[in-house]
Amino acid sequence: MLNVIVFGAPGSGKGTQSEKLINQYGLHHISTGEVLREHISKGTELGKVADSYISKGQLIPDELMVKVLADVLDNNPGKTANGVIFDGFPRTIPQAKALKQMLAERHTRVNAVIGLEVDEDDLIGRMLRRGAESGRADDNIDTIKKRLDVYHNQTSPLREYYLQEGKYIAVDGNRGIDEIFSDIKSHLDKKLVK
Ligand code: AMP
Repeated sequence: MLNVIVFGAPGSGKGTQSEKLINQYGLHHISTGEVLREHISKGTELGKVADSYISKGQLIPDELMVKVLADVLDNNPGKTANGVIFDGFPRTIPQAKALKQMLAERHTRVNAVIGLEVDEDDLIGRMLRRGAESGRADDNIDTIKKRLDVYHNQTSPLREYYLQEGKYIAVDGNRGIDEIFSDIKSHLDKKLVK
């Protein structure tokens, strides 16, 4: 079983690399952003609450987010058997602690944290391009700036947290998609033979 967190600033390529990892290792992809966007498009109660935060570039409160993740894990027991790619979760230290506990209760743990490190100047351009191509509502310049502030204040401390846990693997995300992926793969293959 291989549980991997794909970590990085908004626009760092988490979704792109996660897609490639699913194919390579047969892992189940959980993107909390995608889960929330689906709720928003279906107009659920959770979707309404989520939209009020996402549209402002803010994080959904930890307690609610942890509950959402636990529901996804509990509702997909077969799919998560080979392991999970966590994309966009955790985003705060309390979420990381809750994830550790949730996985321990399910007799498993985080094996690796892939940290996609991308120059700040490139992130904004990438998100603006994604917004133009996909129509994703929070990929507009005002919300992007807020999301980057939130990342620096609330999410980036997780880099240190997972370094201390001996799980953080820094990956230079300023390269082509395939080059980045082969770098990630060589790191994860080493974890698998251990
Ligand atoms: P993403 O698709 O991962 O960029 O997430 C889009 C938005 O969903 C974020 O800007 C947050 O508002 C919200 N979101 C996604 N994951 C989380 C999380 N783990 N904690 C809090 N908010 C989240």
